[in-house]
Amino acid sequence: MTADAPQPVHRKELSAPQKALHKLGLVRSIDLALHLPLRYEDETRIVRLADAREGQSVQVEGTVTHSEITLRPRRQLLVTLDDGSDTCTLRFFSFYPSHQKALAVGARVRVRGEIRGGFMGRTIMHPAFHAAGGELPNALTPVYPTSAQLPQAYLRKVVASGLARADLSETLPRELLGSLQEVVRAPWTLHEALRYLHQPGPDVSLDALEDRSHPAWQRLKAEELLAQQLSQLTAKRERDALRAPPLRTAPGGLPEQLLGLLPFALTAAQRRVGEEIARDLARPVPMHRLLQGDVGSGKTVVAALAAAIAIDSGWQCALMAPTEILAEQHFAKLIGWLEPLLAPRGKRVAWLTGSQKKKQRTEMLALIASGEAALVVGTHAVIQDQVVFLNLALAIIDEQHRFGVAQRLALRSKMGPPPSLAHSVSPLSPSRGNAGGPAEPVPRRSGPGDAHATDTTVYGEPHLLMMTATPIPRTLAMSYYADLDVSTIDELPPGRTPIVTKVVSDQRRHEVIERIRAQVAQGRQVYWVCPLIEESEALDLSNATATHAELSEELNRNTVAATSLPLRADDAEAPAEPPGGVGVLVGLLHSRMPVAEKKAVMALFSAGHMGVLVSTTVIEVGVDVPNASLMVIEHAERFGLSQLHQLRGRVGRGAAASACVLLYSPPDGGRLSETARERLKAMAETNDGFEIARRDLEIRGPGEFLGARQSGAAMLRFADLATDGHLLDWARSAATQMLAQHPQAAEKHIARWLGTKAEYLKA
Ligand code: ADP
Ligand code: MG
Repeated sequence: MTADAPQPVHRKELSAPQKALHKLGLVRSIDLALHLPLRYEDETRIVRLADAREGQSVQVEGTVTHSEITLRPRRQLLVTLDDGSDTCTLRFFSFYPSHQKALAVGARVRVRGEIRGGFMGRTIMHPAFHAAGGELPNALTPVYPTSAQLPQAYLRKVVASGLARADLSETLPRELLGSLQEVVRAPWTLHEALRYLHQPGPDVSLDALEDRSHPAWQRLKAEELLAQQLSQLTAKRERDALRAPPLRTAPGGLPEQLLGLLPFALTAAQRRVGEEIARDLARPVPMHRLLQGDVGSGKTVVAALAAAIAIDSGWQCALMAPTEILAEQHFAKLIGWLEPLLAPRGKRVAWLTGSQKKKQRTEMLALIASGEAALVVGTHAVIQDQVVFLNLALAIIDEQHRFGVAQRLALRSKMGPPPSLAHSVSPLSPSRGNAGGPAEPVPRRSGPGDAHATDTTVYGEPHLLMMTATPIPRTLAMSYYADLDVSTIDELPPGRTPIVTKVVSDQRRHEVIERIRAQVAQGRQVYWVCPLIEESEALDLSNATATHAELSEELNRNTVAATSLPLRADDAEAPAEPPGGVGVLVGLLHSRMPVAEKKAVMALFSAGHMGVLVSTTVIEVGVDVPNASLMVIEHAERFGLSQLHQLRGRVGRGAAASACVLLYSPPDGGRLSETARERLKAMAETNDGFEIARRDLEIRGPGEFLGARQSGAAMLRFADLATDGHLLDWARSAATQMLAQHPQAAEKHIARWLGTKAEYLKA
């Protein structure tokens, strides 16, 4: 076992390659043993130059017949090698005097590299070489993934010694080896598999090594998946052992009042997921649930109900979105619903954002610390150190994939003491005090010494509800989110019409503008979304401004423009009549606008007075105007698939037939990239968020798709969810069994595969 313990080394003593090893996570012997070759080189044979084909990687041996340094087109060393059957040129752009010496005329050398053609004759660029002669290895040579500071030869040596030292004893109990046999015909032991892949024998062919269905590969993938499942199950168990305040409401409570206020009835799917969440909240164990539902499926109201339950029980709820705009737009409705219900209870909603003025921020912090703010809404600002909750019991994260692991961990640590400690108020009769008065921050009570009041429970974590409009495909959910409970809204509110999506070249922009004119003439409204320009807000803005001017001019030719922007806030109420007769009102919305102006523009658009709204991606989420029936997305090729889908979700909210036009323009003289074309095609072909997510996963691969959750964490290195579903199924049931019956072996297995990375997977 000692070989597996991380070796305590002082940073200073590490050589450059050792540092590079650490950087690659290759610390323990077992890490080295599990560092598998990318590919193999065949050094077992010497090929005659006359027999070598262009493009082939070969090893040749011969005599240097010519050697010179030329300066044109750039400084390089050119060496002619003759092996008796033919000659070829060895070409080096970077070289040292030692190269020249070793490759002097008359020297006999063994050279390895890829044969290339060309007008100078056959060439090998930068070949590996050493003196001729010497025994040929009798097996393939592994080539490992490495970094610039870590030479292959060094890595080969340390991997070999790691493999020799590592404890590779069996962790799988007999019955699991048995069940693995049913999935993989002739399972190998871990030891056999690693030996085979690191040090292929003389009779192993390249094909056999590349074929990842080989039993050696199958064993490694099965082990890896098992480790992942075990670590997630363990995380779930650990969480299940923590306490969270049970949140329940009585009949007639806040959630019921909220339902009474809504202008619509919940869909069956919303009711179902609402009940799933309520059931979790009522338990004294922290909820860890993902709520997924397509754009427009109505997740916000479900979040509002969850918040209402927490608040009704006398606790605080925090709502977080990744950006200020999203926070504002996502939660505008929710706040509109909840605020009037909170007021009579002497409770308020607090806002926390990065751009807030100091005075306002201080005020908000006080509201949060005193508990007067029952609901706290904001961005990352919510999890900063200065934010002290009186009694946070529920955290809701919207667009969860845009938050990092560290941020989610920080949120979970915001758990405050129970309300009975802080307020001496029973959770079932929420406090009415504090209304209006300047609330003094109450220091957070933490540490067991404070637990002197009635409720002495030490609560470990708040309940956590994460929301996403990007549903996670099933295999990913089973693999990466195995520790998460998932609720799915699989039904849209009634009355939505399917959206027709067209992919159109920017050269046909004028046709699109004609179409806008026709829509507006029918009393419909249109969104025009401007592109992202390399994340630069300033450029986004200038582009949006230009488009705004273009559309105002085009659509108002021969008419009097309705009005010009910017508007002042008090204009929002102004026009009593739609300005259709005078011309088309074209509005502009971008994130740098003062809030009042933004609100004024949105008010005009929402009220139907504005025909066209040009915007940067501000409207990505949250805007809700059922009369809008056309969306144009400019430079659609620059957007990600799920972002396009989110944007498109802004239309098709009413009964009218709706359309989305994806304008694209290839870079100067070029073509759209393959992935851009795939994204646009996917958008044109389907409206279904699940299908979009599946394609997105296909295009981007799980690493990028999952984003922050996996940063720094052990991604699956060997298993491929697209082909290894059978192994994943095995690993899932094996993990449960192993944890129940062989907990020590399970622990050993996790440590072997994940080492210190296991922590990351728990967030
Ligand atoms: P998302 O899931 O994308 O966050 P929202 O919560 O913003 O969706 O809801 C989209 C729109 O549908 C909002 O205008 C919301 O008020 C409305 N809505 C939600 N639930 C229903 C329902 N059951 N019936 C009718 N409209 C609903
Ligand atoms: Mg939403």
